[in-house]
Amino acid sequence: MRVGIVGGGIIGLSSAYYLQKAGHQVTIIDQDDLQIGCSTGNAGMIVPSHLIPLASPGMISKGIRWMFNSTSPFYVKPRWSGDLVKWGYHFYRHSNKDHVARAAIALKDISLFSKAMYQQWSKELPFDFEYKERGLLMLYQTKETEHEESETAHFANKHGIEAHILSPTEVQQLEPHVKVSARGGVYFPGDAHLTPQLLISQMILFLKKQGVQFITNTTLTDFVVDNNQIRELVASSNHFSFDEVILATGSWSGNIGKKLHVNLPMQAGKGYSFLTPIQKNIQVPSIFLEARVAVTPMGDNIRFGGTMEIAGVNHTINMNRVKGIVDSIPRYYPEMNIAMPPQSNVWHGLRPCSPDGLPYIGKSKTIKNLTIATGHAMMGLSLGPGTGKLVQQIIDQDQTSISMEAFNPERYQ
Ligand SMILES: Cc1cc2nc3c(=O)[nH]c(=O)nc-3n(C[C@H](O)[C@H](O)[C@H](O)COP(=O)(O)OP(=O)(O)OC[C@H]3O[C@@H](n4cnc5c(N)ncnc54)[C@H](O)[C@@H]3O)c2cc1C
Repeated sequence: MRVGIVGGGIIGLSSAYYLQKAGHQVTIIDQDDLQIGCSTGNAGMIVPSHLIPLASPGMISKGIRWMFNSTSPFYVKPRWSGDLVKWGYHFYRHSNKDHVARAAIALKDISLFSKAMYQQWSKELPFDFEYKERGLLMLYQTKETEHEESETAHFANKHGIEAHILSPTEVQQLEPHVKVSARGGVYFPGDAHLTPQLLISQMILFLKKQGVQFITNTTLTDFVVDNNQIRELVASSNHFSFDEVILATGSWSGNIGKKLHVNLPMQAGKGYSFLTPIQKNIQVPSIFLEARVAVTPMGDNIRFGGTMEIAGVNHTINMNRVKGIVDSIPRYYPEMNIAMPPQSNVWHGLRPCSPDGLPYIGKSKTIKNLTIATGHAMMGLSLGPGTGKLVQQIIDQDQTSISMEAFNPERYQ
């Protein structure tokens, strides 16, 4: 079949990989040049440990507290937007224990499935993307966070995801080359990491060699729909026609869905990151829990990333929040002194956030030849290959490898 994929981030590229392999003729259309999008500058963590969605008990009160601090890691910009109000309402409705229990099962299944695909990729792809299985260390400094994270560790162990609660001495043993200041930590040995900019750039070259066509700097603006079927994609005044269409448009998907009368509540969660040359040889990727900052060794560099600004699809860089990331570093690594990066070295990306913290993956019931794959929020890199494989199984009408019920893309229809 001729398959058109709109969006060439990790979700679109992973879908292209499996669809091309299955014998389809694949075209990716993207409004950008695929060099700096959300899938390139992220923290590179593959996180089966992340079983708890953002919509969880306590998140609303934390968010309200953080809103009044300009360097805080989480921020919802107050604005008159019907979409934001509806998204906030759904987020609120899902911030409870029952939802967390249901979501954890679905997230575990797709995370482990996707990690298995990464293991295969690291063996079968003809390029290196620095995939390493060294686990993830969650560091905390306060009693309150210690309590919360210990609960998370018990919850994870109960769901079959290995987690170890570590004393400060045990944390230091895991990181022999850098002094760590923490009350303790939780270590998830099953997590992994990679260098996303390598994966994305090399995957694009690889797919081109396999015959996948890339149409970049071309924005999808409309659809020609007839008899509940997409006949044409209208993009930058060109018309394209495919048998099957995949929507992998990340944070932009809510607005695009409206054109097809498919309701995909979505908010962009902006985050920042920067690379800095290695000062201390960090072994294991970490998350500074109170600061919500992610630290990942990548080749000769370390990437620091964080913040979640729900402020619409916009590309302004708030250096105050970048300062929040920089200031947190010596609090957890007291011997490290990282200078504030110039704005030109700060990367930003828009995480596509569904209100319930679960991605939208599946065939539309409204439009016959439309498959949706988006809304992976903080876990898009982790869940990319798994999502791509599921998209291929859906298009080929194969039995999917995991249950898809929780990811129904029209659950808000
Ligand atoms: C600071 C930060 C750290 C992160 N760390 C991690 C991590 O450690 N692990 C992890 O798993 N995830 C992480 N994430 C999240 C992850 O980066 C995202 O979930 C993921 O990149 C989303 O991929 P995507 O393909 O859905 O969207 P995108 O990468 O945004 O791709 C969507 C594409 O669609 C295109 N598009 C949109 N509209 C149109 C249109 N109308 N016409 C044509 N093209 C269009 C866009 O140009 C874009 O290229 C992080 C994110 C941030 C910001």
